[in-house]
Amino acid sequence: VGLSCALALADAGFDVEVWDPAPPLATASGVAAGMLAPAFEAVLDPVATPHFDLLLAARNLWPAFAERAGVQLDRAGALAAGSAEWIAALRSRFVALGLHPGELSPTVAAGLAPGLSNATEAALFTREDWRVDAGAAIAALRRSADDAGVQFVPQAADASAGGLLVIATGASTSLADVAPELAALSPIKGQILRVPGGEIGPFTVRGDGVYLAPGPGRLLVGATMEPGVSDTEVDEAKTRPLHAAAARLFPHLSEMVAEPAAGVRGATPDGLPLVGASRGGEALLAVGARRNGWLLAPLIGGMVAAMAAGREPGASASPLAPDRFSRAG
Ligand SMILES: Cc1cc2nc3c(=O)[nH]c(=O)nc-3n(C[C@H](O)[C@H](O)[C@H](O)COP(=O)(O)OP(=O)(O)OC[C@H]3O[C@@H](n4cnc5c(N)ncnc54)[C@H](O)[C@@H]3O)c2cc1C
Repeated sequence: VGLSCALALADAGFDVEVWDPAPPLATASGVAAGMLAPAFEAVLDPVATPHFDLLLAARNLWPAFAERAGVQLDRAGALAAGSAEWIAALRSRFVALGLHPGELSPTVAAGLAPGLSNATEAALFTREDWRVDAGAAIAALRRSADDAGVQFVPQAADASAGGLLVIATGASTSLADVAPELAALSPIKGQILRVPGGEIGPFTVRGDGVYLAPGPGRLLVGATMEPGVSDTEVDEAKTRPLHAAAARLFPHLSEMVAEPAAGVRGATPDGLPLVGASRGGEALLAVGARRNGWLLAPLIGGMVAAMAAGREPGASASPLAPDRFSRAG
């Protein structure tokens, strides 16, 4: 999110420095699956359901953003597979959002997702959900920001640096003395498995309680949701059920080695990020993107650049206003 803000600000003519003590991949963004998934997130995560239109609008910014940032965008789509009952429930939730996913027979689904269990009873497919490879996307964003003149300072930021401070510190509340709105954030730890050589074809696959996201040379299997937990230790007791759920969908994965990784998502009470000026106007906030930081990054970056330049930030400014949890009445 910080890199997308930096690039948008540089493109708007600002001199930009990114202050960050962490290596680029040692972040929530670095371990994430990189799904840009307005449809399945709205269907599977009740917190996201009311925000479907906003998530879809954010996704629609991705083609131009990916081109500008040199990020490879995978628009293949995603499918869900499982019991007939579960798929029927998902289908009605799609329809309630105005979406009409393709219904796939188990045979057709197995053609799209090689290795899919023959216990699969039903499946559906949507083209609404896209993907990026998180590691490659971070590298591309850093390169593009660098080319646009952004300077990188490998240190923690504080308020003394001068200029306009954009706080894009993920789940961290370390700058709450500058922006008290950060107190609305709580951590949600997420653990994910990397399966080197894991092959399931080109599509992201959603199962009941698990997702599988293919990538170059490896498969990602995610992810735990551990509210209130902010460490990044990996814990096999939590990742074993993910591996088991993945192997129920794709039996060949049961024997494959799975390497765990963990990140911490920052979340607000309504599941949307905080984007906009802090109470005293000392900083612009760009934090708390919960499960959808990759999806929302171009939207947040564009809003931050518009706000910094005194331009109209668009229709998402009000639902994302940082003071929405502290307003009287
Ligand atoms: C397992 C897992 C899977 C996920 N899958 C997806 C997915 O498929 N799609 C999706 O859209 N989202 C996904 N997410 C969510 C997504 O990763 C986050 O929403 C997103 O990474 C948030 O980005 P961010 O830049 O706000 O935070 P981060 O990536 O955490 O970056 C915050 C940065 O701020 C720095 N920082 C902190 N304090 C300071 C300070 N005082 N000074 C300077 N720098 C500081 C940190 O070092 C870090 O580099 C997933 C998350 C997890 C954990």
